[in-house]
Formats: sequence, C-alpha cells, structure tokens
Amino acid sequence: MILYNYIRYLDYLTNKLDGFFKNQQPYICCKKGCAKCCKNGNYPFTEIEFRYLMLGFKKLKPELQNIIKNKIQNIFEDRLTFEGEHFNYECPFLQNDECLVYDYRGIICRTFGLMYFRDDGSSKIPFCAFEGLNYANVLDAETKTISEEKYKELGNVIEPYAFNVSYNYLTNEDHEFAYSIQFGERKTLLDWLVDEFKIQ
Ligand code: SF4
Ligand code: SF4
Repeated sequence: MILYNYIRYLDYLTNKLDGFFKNQQPYICCKKGCAKCCKNGNYPFTEIEFRYLMLGFKKLKPELQNIIKNKIQNIFEDRLTFEGEHFNYECPFLQNDECLVYDYRGIICRTFGLMYFRDDGSSKIPFCAFEGLNYANVLDAETKTISEEKYKELGNVIEPYAFNVSYNYLTNEDHEFAYSIQFGERKTLLDWLVDEFKIQ
C-alpha cells in the first residue's frame, strides 16, 4: 500500500517534471547515453525511494545483480581510503552509460538537469552547464550565472527558469501528507547499499 502511494506520487512528479523539461527545452541536452550526472555524486535517497529502487534491482538477472554488488564493494573500499571532504562516486547501477533500474530510480535522478531553487531561495544551475550541457548556451562562465545577453541572442524562446524541485522540497511533509506516504530516513545511496548487502 505504501509503495502504491509512492508510485502515485512518482506519477504526479513525472508529469510535473516532464512539463518543466519541455518548458526549458531550448536549454536542455539530456538524452539517452548522457550520464555525467550519474558519474560523480553521492545521491541522497530516502527509505521509500531506496525500497522502490530495490524492486528494480530484484528484477535484474543474477549476473547483473552480481556486477552491481561488486561495484558497491569497490566503491565502499575506495571510500575507506578516501581522504578528501566529499566522497563522490559513479552510481553502481550505471552500466554502459545507461541506468539499469531506470523506472525505479530515485527522485534526485529524476530532477537532475533542471535549474532549481535552493532552500535559501537562490537558484542552482546544474553542474553539467559547466561541461557544455544543460543551460551552457546561456551560461556566463565567468560569473557562473545565466547571461541575459545570451538568452536574448537566442531570439524568441522561453526564459531560462529555476523551478521548485529541490530534493528537500520534493521529499517534504506536504508531499507525505498529500500522498499518504512517509519518506523515512535519508542516507546516501552508498550507505543504503552497504547496509542492504552487508558490505564490509
Ligand atoms: S539510479 Fe540510475 S539514474 Fe540514478 S544515479 Fe544511478 S544510474 Fe543514475
Ligand atoms: S542532466 Fe546533464 S549530465 Fe545529466 S543527462 Fe542531462 S545533460 Fe546529461
């Protein structure tokens, strides 16, 4: 029942995000096979998202499941020897630049690529803008902001907007109440996977 309600929420979210991506189409380069956003992150997941992701994992062939488990083990070991501040990694579900659990992916995976409002109201440009992808055609690389001049040069197109799709907002109590769900504990994807598969 709880996952059923979560799927209802995902339907609502997918519909909303599809509209936003379509709206921002002049600035969006996302396409199958572009997976930079799955290669260097820590991917927050709430419990309900993780349980849903595991449904996708269980549907995979045993060979693929084993490949993923080996990747998790390797990432876990890399983290043990990591000395920097933020440990980022390639998502273990990424295979040949495609997500093996695409239909079951998390909320953060669904919002990658849009400009969004942070909790303090400022807008966040996706990192891939700085790698020549989304919003790169209207980016002022020096100030790291959207260039009005570049936007105007594009002619009669919709403005580059930020949307209210921060991870905190999309997993807040209002959405829990509206869809009778509980997102539950939040951890990085790696932490969920290490616990799930008892990696050590
Ligand atoms: S679950 Fe899929 S979409 Fe999400 S980060 Fe991993 S590979 Fe990318
Ligand atoms: S968000 Fe950026 S990196 Fe990710 S698929 Fe879209 S264009 Fe590629």
